[in-house]
Amino acid sequence: MNLVVLGSGTSVFHPCRASAGFWLQTNAGSILLDCSADAPHRMAEENLDWPNLDAIWISHLHLDHCAGLAPFLFGIKWARGIEQRQKPLKIFGCEGIVKLLKAIDESHRYKLFEQSFPIEIHEIKASNKVSSFHLLPGLEIETVSTPHRAESLAIRLTDSDGATLVYTSDTGYSDDLARFAQDADLLILECSFYRGKPTPKHLELADAMRIAQLAAPGKLMLTHLYPEWDAVDLEAEAKKLWPGETIAARDGLKLEVETSRR
Ligand SMILES: [Zn+2]
Ligand SMILES: [Zn+2]
Repeated sequence: MNLVVLGSGTSVFHPCRASAGFWLQTNAGSILLDCSADAPHRMAEENLDWPNLDAIWISHLHLDHCAGLAPFLFGIKWARGIEQRQKPLKIFGCEGIVKLLKAIDESHRYKLFEQSFPIEIHEIKASNKVSSFHLLPGLEIETVSTPHRAESLAIRLTDSDGATLVYTSDTGYSDDLARFAQDADLLILECSFYRGKPTPKHLELADAMRIAQLAAPGKLMLTHLYPEWDAVDLEAEAKKLWPGETIAARDGLKLEVETSRR
């Protein structure tokens, strides 16, 4: 799997951090993990083949994770050569995606669902029990609820070569989430705050590193960084709490996710 960080930021506008979005190229196809308002532009900026994107994952309905979805559907209509596209665009994720898109669509007859290719939307019910399904041929997906919003979900993807990636999106602390992320080759974990977090519905560094200790991922990437992180050396602080490899997410960062299993 190959990852491109499109947005390592939050809902708070920041000069170098766009809101959430991660491009993932798997053996089965390309997936956009979360689609903030910034994500469509960031895909173009990184020269990614967005008109042929196979799937979009939406973790929850906070706008810094889903506000780019309707603009993406509005814009892709006019992508060069799009009339040749036949494969479906799969949109999957939390409950409420259809309601959100329909509300926008009907407010001005944007015809978001009238495309030259099929759009398949698959909503996953919030559950503390892990759900699993095949998204694309050879690509296994598991999801589980996170303590952030009623609908919020974390996702675990396993590619055909065995490489695994877990993306928690926004979450509070949970031992169950650490179990869900166990032994992932890459764990993309939110770490909204350095310390003294103002809400239990996000993580601060000590929480994130506790999850890293329990989950023991091959690599850890911390993202969803509020501007207070600007003044802190995240990777150095993380090292004090967990000896593994921690990467501070930054927009434009590219990473190959390889399986550590022999
Ligand atoms: Zn967020
Ligand atoms: Zn959120």
